[in-house]
Amino acid sequence: MKNNKFDIDKYLSDLEHLVNIDSGSEDIDGIKKIAEFFMNKYAELGWRVKSFNFDRSVGPCLEFRNTDNKDSDFLLLGHMDTVFPLGTVKQRSFKITDNRAYGPGVIDMKSGLLSIYYAVKSLNPETAPSICIALNSHEEISSLFAYPWIEKLAKKSKIAFVTEPARANGALVKKRKGLARYTIIFNGVAAHAGVEPEKGLSSITELGHWIVALSKLTDYESGTTVNVGLIEGGTAVNVVAEKAKAIIDVRYEDQKFLTNIENVMNEMVKKPFLNGMKIEISRLGWRPPMNPSWKTEKLCKEIEKVAKELEIEMKWAATGGGSDGNFVASAGTPVIDGLGPIGGRAHSKNEYMEVDSVEPRIGLLRELLESVRLVQSIQSINNEVK
Ligand SMILES: [Zn+2]
Repeated sequence: MKNNKFDIDKYLSDLEHLVNIDSGSEDIDGIKKIAEFFMNKYAELGWRVKSFNFDRSVGPCLEFRNTDNKDSDFLLLGHMDTVFPLGTVKQRSFKITDNRAYGPGVIDMKSGLLSIYYAVKSLNPETAPSICIALNSHEEISSLFAYPWIEKLAKKSKIAFVTEPARANGALVKKRKGLARYTIIFNGVAAHAGVEPEKGLSSITELGHWIVALSKLTDYESGTTVNVGLIEGGTAVNVVAEKAKAIIDVRYEDQKFLTNIENVMNEMVKKPFLNGMKIEISRLGWRPPMNPSWKTEKLCKEIEKVAKELEIEMKWAATGGGSDGNFVASAGTPVIDGLGPIGGRAHSKNEYMEVDSVEPRIGLLRELLESVRLVQSIQSINNEVK
């Protein structure tokens, strides 16, 4: 790279350090260690460092800036948490075999966090754009407490990049589905299954009807899926079940499809399949869809030009998985995701990162940050809209 020669060995030893710290979303001590690592790194670069505690149940969220401006040209987003519980590192710590690095969170997304750091570190401070970096402590549990902060930062930024992994074929992500999760509690009436079953009201039977009805709401054509992912209920085989519970996961491309599902569920609460059944629904987590706006499409064209100069053939992908990019898109800021290294099998023990993708992808991110054209193209649209 131009100003600072990129040192892959240093990067990999930093990555080893980070991967070998368990940092599941609920592991506040682990998240704090990751946070300290980056707070020190950015303080060394002379950046403004802020830490926020949005709730006692999650770790600190971090904000780094290279200027005193409240508005930024670029918002760079990442998350410090993983989906893996405490003790995972002990079972399978960081390792490299052939060209692949393994370990919990290696691609989702400890490498992406480092990519941001190495890319901005190599920028010329004299000519660098204004950058805000936001590191979330609990993205993997739907950013429950962080999303208002992310939306606020998005509104104050012209362009946002997320360094979640690039797809296995190297594609960047410009479209993600929205996501909503619900807990549904069924309250029936318990009774002896042999002596007086007619006095009972089975929450499990009601739940069964719901599973069938909810599954029918899946519509692949519109991209809407409803998955009844978890169920529980009953206390014993000879008891009509008083209580049952389901947790469902909905993915959707447009708010109107989610509204429809919520309407159907509300109707079923009012008119249950079994007379007298009491049902409560609560929303567990939510992300709006990340749909590319025409601003995003324009940004994609500019990114393709930059990538071409670097001899990277740019491909684009859509995915059903959510990220913090979803909140950015709904705030109206164009956002591109997948700017981390290339890898795959996230959330599994086979998660990997392609070692030889690290340098070219950091190079791409750095070039994008340096490309005045990118910011100008969005700025000109923003001016027109005003
Ligand atoms: Zn992730």
